[in-house]
Amino acid sequence: MLIAVYPGSFDPITLGHLDIILRACKVCDKLIIAVGKNSYKKNTSLLTISKRIELIEKVVNDLDGNIRQKIEISSFDGLLVDFVKEKKSNLIIRGLRAFSDFDYEFNLAMINSKISNDVETIFLMANENKQFISSKFVKELLELNIDLSPFLPKIIIEDFLKLKGEN
Ligand code: ADP
Repeated sequence: MLIAVYPGSFDPITLGHLDIILRACKVCDKLIIAVGKNSYKKNTSLLTISKRIELIEKVVNDLDGNIRQKIEISSFDGLLVDFVKEKKSNLIIRGLRAFSDFDYEFNLAMINSKISNDVETIFLMANENKQFISSKFVKELLELNIDLSPFLPKIIIEDFLKLKGEN
């Protein structure tokens, strides 16, 4: 049984994350989407951890049953590799966008492999029309009256728009 962990901030989950989730589900038996509590992005975060999880749950519940049953949603604190082992996994999934992610993702993968050499990181690339999407970008668009359907799963757009003016 191949268990993989897809960690991230998911602040909020986007169509880019969803693309990676669907690809990961093609190659593993179980995918644990793990919302990191102590991201370096804390200062720029918008949603609480429980709100992020709630939105991920909505998106996952909207997927086909055979994909949905492979997915577990969780949050973690502290070292990612410890969480991965706790979940009886040895595989981290990360997404890679053209240009912007390589440096950061390379360093993160190296650090995780130094901390634990029995945990591997596998990178997946989103479809080219999803590559440019980021939570950061979506957060910047929130205050503008722009159609968010090219960036966010439809099922969470209304919930996301309710956050307008809250930060
Ligand atoms: P983190 O704070 O850990 O970078 P994010 O939620 O921003 O968390 O991203 C989680 C993972 O998903 C990262 O590996 C990131 O590169 C990847 N990712 C996010 N958006 C996209 C996208 N549009 N295409 C491909 N990968 C993506």
